Amino acid sequence: MQAAHEFYQRIADSVLAGGASAHDEELLGEHLAHCAACSQHFEAGKRAVDALRGFSFPPDEEGQAKVRNLLRRHARQIAAQRLQRRRMAWIWAIALVLTVAGSFADWQLAGLLARFFHLRPAELRNGLLSGWILPSIGIALFMPFVLLAPSNRRGRSI
Ligand SMILES: [Zn+2]
Repeated sequence: MQAAHEFYQRIADSVLAGGASAHDEELLGEHLAHCAACSQHFEAGKRAVDALRGFSFPPDEEGQAKVRNLLRRHARQIAAQRLQRRRMAWIWAIALVLTVAGSFADWQLAGLLARFFHLRPAELRNGLLSGWILPSIGIALFMPFVLLAPSNRRGRSI
């Protein structure tokens, strides 16, 4: 007897999914007329399908405008993120160049620059190291972590 109910409930599911023949629908109708359990199964399924339909197709103009606005805002955020990433990639490249240039200046030109600025080479070296090389190394090392982070938090707020 239980097997018969499962048979009819499977038919009910395919009727709800829109894949049942007219004969199946007729069989189901006859059974539902005198079976409370299967009627309940069918009604619950119908409510779920109706709710899903209402969710995927906002019925009114205002609802559709809201969905369009959300999508548009999401697209803008993604574009802004992409631009920010490109900007940070540039900063990283510049920091790398500055690191190389600063190191080169330190190693090759310290004596020359010291004479030019009337400083002792050690003072100039310290100045270059703390004011140029270390900051740019810092940025160059830090930037990949920012660039490789999966996504920036603001983008997930929807
Ligand atoms: Zn039944």
